[in-house]
Amino acid sequence: MKILLNTLPRGKSEQIFDSLAQLQHDESIQWKPLQFEMKLNIDRQGQNFYLHGKISCTGLFICEAGMEEFEDTLKSEIEAMLTFDSKYLESYEGDEIYHIPAHQAEFDLYPLVHDAVLLAIPISHRCGPDCQAAQELQKFIRPDDKPDERWAKLKDLFNE
Ligand SMILES: [Zn+2]
Repeated sequence: MKILLNTLPRGKSEQIFDSLAQLQHDESIQWKPLQFEMKLNIDRQGQNFYLHGKISCTGLFICEAGMEEFEDTLKSEIEAMLTFDSKYLESYEGDEIYHIPAHQAEFDLYPLVHDAVLLAIPISHRCGPDCQAAQELQKFIRPDDKPDERWAKLKDLFNE
């Protein structure tokens, strides 16, 4: 996921990245990437490059509730500024700023994309509010559990 800085036009331009290869070969990713797209807006102002990427990444994940596989699409964004001129390092207000050595013609966005995608995964990652697999799992764990009368009475108490 590299951008070639030298050949970028002045002003605004856009690039689309849709290769899955890097995500698929990344051993730190524990789920199966199925589809990836990042629309990258670039604004080149002299020595500076302002980047804003919108990411959509679909993968096969394991549901936390039912342990089954499910498909989910993660949305995320990256923002960064690259500069060939170190004097901008102090004046830029954003979080992500990278000083690029003058001889370096390309910049790899993958580390930024990787972090953005992983941060987009919810802490409690489930297929949905009503997980069928989790209900099946419950039945399997306690196959002949009959409703207990004592619980029923207790429930009535709460309902009053
Ligand atoms: Zn589930």
